[in-house]
Amino acid sequence: MDVDDIRAEALSAVSASDSPERLDEVRVEYLGKKGKLTLLARSLRFLDPSERPAAGARNNAAKDAVVQAIEARRAALTAEQLARTLSEDVVDVTLPGRRQNPGSLHPITQTMRRIEDIFLGAGYGVVTGPEIEDDYHNFEALNLPPHHPARTMWDTFYLEGGHVLRTHTSPVQVRVMEKTRPPIRIICPGRVFRRESDLTHTPMFHQVEGLVVDEGISFADLKGTVVGFVRRFYDKEVGVRFRPSYFPFTEPSAEVDAQCVHCEGSGCRVCSGTGWVEVMGCGMVHPNVLRMSGIDAERNTGFAFGFGADRLAAFYFGVDDLRLFFDNDVRFLSQFS
Ligand SMILES: [Zn+2]
Repeated sequence: MDVDDIRAEALSAVSASDSPERLDEVRVEYLGKKGKLTLLARSLRFLDPSERPAAGARNNAAKDAVVQAIEARRAALTAEQLARTLSEDVVDVTLPGRRQNPGSLHPITQTMRRIEDIFLGAGYGVVTGPEIEDDYHNFEALNLPPHHPARTMWDTFYLEGGHVLRTHTSPVQVRVMEKTRPPIRIICPGRVFRRESDLTHTPMFHQVEGLVVDEGISFADLKGTVVGFVRRFYDKEVGVRFRPSYFPFTEPSAEVDAQCVHCEGSGCRVCSGTGWVEVMGCGMVHPNVLRMSGIDAERNTGFAFGFGADRLAAFYFGVDDLRLFFDNDVRFLSQFS
């Protein structure tokens, strides 16, 4: 094959290449180690010496032409591809943006914060304490000596070394009374633990207990505080009633019912048809409890109350299974955002 034929063939192969890969194949075919133009150049040594310079020059010219054609074709293909990418990847700036779904506070956290706000506004301090307690602070200092039958009121998780997972946040009150002199006005929010689990009980729940100790504190102060709190919490003039009850650490003791906010007392699913929901326990602090913490029980009196924030949240939101609060199902939780 003549050098001009090879040159013509190579140039048409270059212009027919439709991709950089194909272009590389063409380059190898004509200019590679065993390419057609390379082999032709090698064969020049068999020519008569007089013919070699002219043939060599023609061969070099053909090589240069093919190299240039390949460069030009490569540039054209790159430009084509860029233009195609630009037209295909058009960004429509008029499309609405993608929204992030912001999370929200857990309904229990929302409830705890509302409760704390109400009491902070009334001049209470907020105090927390350890979730693993010794027997003394969880029971004994609350007028529950060892073998006291009322200890069975709590299904307790016992730990090694005489420790327990606290069954209420009352031990925090004891710790405050040990270190502080009256007047005392605090609430103790926190997690507490009991061995029970059903629709209305979970092994871990959130309790808020309150304690007020000062000279001249009476049951009337307790009533006013509790009724005021319940009405602030439900943001409604709900009915509140006190029923006599028993707790080892208060005397007298009472349980508090609030009128159901969902049926306003006529009876519904949330209140099991009774029109009332039990919201807390309370009473006047037993003098033994004051004395054990070193407080002068002749001069001072006090009241205490305690309730499950989860139960309060359940009544407030109309949730009938407390366990839903702890399943962490986003479909449930997102309803409270
Ligand atoms: Zn009801």
